[in-house]
Amino acid sequence: MKKVLVDADNGRYDIVIGNRIISDEPLKRYTDYAVITDDIVYPLLHEYFPEAKWIILPAGESSKSMRNLEMIYQKLMEFGIDRKGAVAALGGGVVGDIAGFAAATFKRGISFVQYPTTLLAQVDSSVGGKVAVNLPEGKNMVGAFYQPDIVIADTGTLATLDTRQYAAGMAEVIKYAYIYDAKLHQTLVSGRADIADIVRRCCEIKADYVKRDPYDTGIRMQLNYGHTLGHAIEAAAGYGAFLHGEAVAIGMVYAARIGEKLGVSPAGLTEDTKSLLEQNRLPVETEGNILHKALELLLADKKAEGRKINFILIDEIGHAVIQKLDVEEIQKILKE
Ligand code: NAD
Ligand code: ZN
Repeated sequence: MKKVLVDADNGRYDIVIGNRIISDEPLKRYTDYAVITDDIVYPLLHEYFPEAKWIILPAGESSKSMRNLEMIYQKLMEFGIDRKGAVAALGGGVVGDIAGFAAATFKRGISFVQYPTTLLAQVDSSVGGKVAVNLPEGKNMVGAFYQPDIVIADTGTLATLDTRQYAAGMAEVIKYAYIYDAKLHQTLVSGRADIADIVRRCCEIKADYVKRDPYDTGIRMQLNYGHTLGHAIEAAAGYGAFLHGEAVAIGMVYAARIGEKLGVSPAGLTEDTKSLLEQNRLPVETEGNILHKALELLLADKKAEGRKINFILIDEIGHAVIQKLDVEEIQKILKE
């Protein structure tokens, strides 16, 4: 069992990481609690929470809605959860985000505990205190910064995750290696990494960004490596076609290419990125028309903003820089 301390202005708490550590023990200090999960995770893990009051959402991104939020508040009222009570999230990022926002707002904020059960949630979404729901107009449009009391990341729960979801989580792991940790990069290339060590290292890295930039106004932007193009590719392909991590994987390949062309990134970064992603069963490119559409979306975005975009590049493996780039410049490089 390993512990990572998150020590930010807006919260100080442990992430506990280990194999088969899941239990309801951390919830027993609250007067009352509800566990929010989805209908895929519930049958897999409900036995560890014999005394829980359950709120079970349909699995999938569309559950992160205002409608479900209202349903959650009503259930919490029904269960009689008071201000000393808690909400626990058992599941992936979808459950974590909506449960966290419910905890942040119900009776002006009650305690929140995270049990992330996807690799993406363990290395990314459960750390850092961003919680949100979607609007039909856009993802994460209603949200807050709200830190949990504790995060319990049981890597044993990942055994039932399907390979595509697992790979999508690895894309974020690979991202951490490129932006922050050359040693982690080496470990990943060697293919001999222990998953609990990987999760711990990623949590340490994210915790460091969160400590330095708890409200995401500066340096934390580096965590968006591969995401500027990744988000555009997700949208261009139609949401659901790519998993988020898959689109980020492709985004990192393009970002590496841009970095090399501009002479910012070390020669060979694109090939290095591709081979590490392929080794982890991730896509490294998308059809020309999707890329074209993604670039159009970026351009439209930029016009709305009326300025250059902040783009994250790797200047050496294990280190990132933020550069202001013209979308036209990006287009030109990627169209070659
Ligand atoms: P998800 O929560 O939809 O989980 C993916 C799928 O895996 C779901 O079908 C789920 O039921 C299933 N699943 C979960 N745990 C499982 C297990 N142990 N075994 C088998 N199946 C399991 O998706 P995700 O990728 O975990 O998270 C994506 C969400 O996270 C998005 O809504 C995104 O906006 C959000 N996110 C938030 C942050 C943040 O900082 N708050 C960061 C990144 C992503
Ligand atoms: Zn991401």
